[in-house]
Amino acid sequence: MKVMKFGGATIKDPKMMKDVGNIIQKEKGKKVVVVSALSGQTNEIREFIAQSRIKRHEVDEFIKKIWKRHTFMVKKTISDKTVLKDILETLNKHILRLERLLYGVVYTEELTPRTKDLILSFGERASAYIMEGMLLSKNVKAKAYEADLAGVVTDGIFLNATADLIKTKENLKKNILPGIQKGTIPVITGFFGCDSKGRTTTFGKNGSDYSAAVIANALNADILELWKDVDGFMSANPSIIENAHTIQRLSYDEAAELAYFGIGLLHPRTVQPAREKDIPIVIKNILKPNKDGTTIEKTGFKTEKVIKSVVYSKDLIEIKVSGAGAGYRPGVLKEVTSTLGDSNINIYSVSTSHTQLSLLIHKNDLSICNEALNGVQGGVIEHIDHLSDIALVCVVGEGSRENRGLAGKIFSAVSKAGVNVEMISAGASSVASHFIIKRIDLKKTISAIHQTFCEK
Ligand code: ASP
Ligand code: MG
Repeated sequence: MKVMKFGGATIKDPKMMKDVGNIIQKEKGKKVVVVSALSGQTNEIREFIAQSRIKRHEVDEFIKKIWKRHTFMVKKTISDKTVLKDILETLNKHILRLERLLYGVVYTEELTPRTKDLILSFGERASAYIMEGMLLSKNVKAKAYEADLAGVVTDGIFLNATADLIKTKENLKKNILPGIQKGTIPVITGFFGCDSKGRTTTFGKNGSDYSAAVIANALNADILELWKDVDGFMSANPSIIENAHTIQRLSYDEAAELAYFGIGLLHPRTVQPAREKDIPIVIKNILKPNKDGTTIEKTGFKTEKVIKSVVYSKDLIEIKVSGAGAGYRPGVLKEVTSTLGDSNINIYSVSTSHTQLSLLIHKNDLSICNEALNGVQGGVIEHIDHLSDIALVCVVGEGSRENRGLAGKIFSAVSKAGVNVEMISAGASSVASHFIIKRIDLKKTISAIHQTFCEK
């Protein structure tokens, strides 16, 4: 069985939606489809609800825009009259629900994470029904499923849930598998599931990749295809490095590291459910469907120069906690990390010296972090600073740890380019090392590493 996930970028307009239909139809054998919202739709909703004090008429305009976009898509992709009527009805029902939820936000001037998740789940619900209708119009047997109703179970953490693989498996076996066996293609919404109390919970931005992996795991799929509008993982960001190339094969570990620090090609937790069942993940480009993309699988391999890709993040901030002995007194590290943990702040990396702890956090967490750490100042901690003009660079390749002298080679390439390394953290992963530089040195650094290790 194959799980085919179509990201938002593959369903931008009616022509693309129909292209997706042809790809699904061509695929012989048992298959399951997982869909994202139409391109950019979830982000649009995210931005809309992020505004403070939304007004009623703004909701009206916003809903109108959503209605227009989706009904246009429905009318252009569903030719069968009866199906068209059905899908329009379902769509209207969902738009009405979205409208009511948004009015709720206007009147209460309150937006809880729980309501946010329910609102954000609109895009996938709409696109799954449209895709079902488009397939039915082509005489392909298909049925849309909303993942929360179909039984994708989560741990209940709003906005960043993790799936309960065991319960999800039980549910999908009961609710989805019988249809597949009769030759119907389920079209399941990505991005969310529901917790044990039935509350919709999303898997975070770009969560549909992860959904697809969860569904592949639950149904014991042989392969997971993630359809996007790019060729796959690259040796570097092509907008910085002109001759960057697509990487054909990666191990689960390599892909997980690249996704964690990389440019958002893959939801960072996608690899875990696939790895558990040893399901290969293949990234495919909707614009070049015949081209092999990147295949991510269990067995890794080492290239001659070890490093396969260099990625970066400009979204992190370095927090420096200083005080005599701060670095080696075990209590201090524990106090700082648990304080941040209690505030739900993810720490990307930690390094310590005698007088200083350095932590990397997401830039959006800075103010909560400062607030939280104010409470622990005094005693050993003398002061807390932060550096925001930094970038994190991560180099990835199987064999990084065993390869003696690799770190030396990396840093000599970087220093030859005239760049000073601010903080080093190698060794936590056996396939990746990362370090911090000043943000203005980013391009120089990436170029130097790519030229030394990745150029073909
Ligand atoms: N539509 C959701 C988002 O944009 C999930 C996804 O596309 O993967 O975050
Ligand atoms: Mg998306």
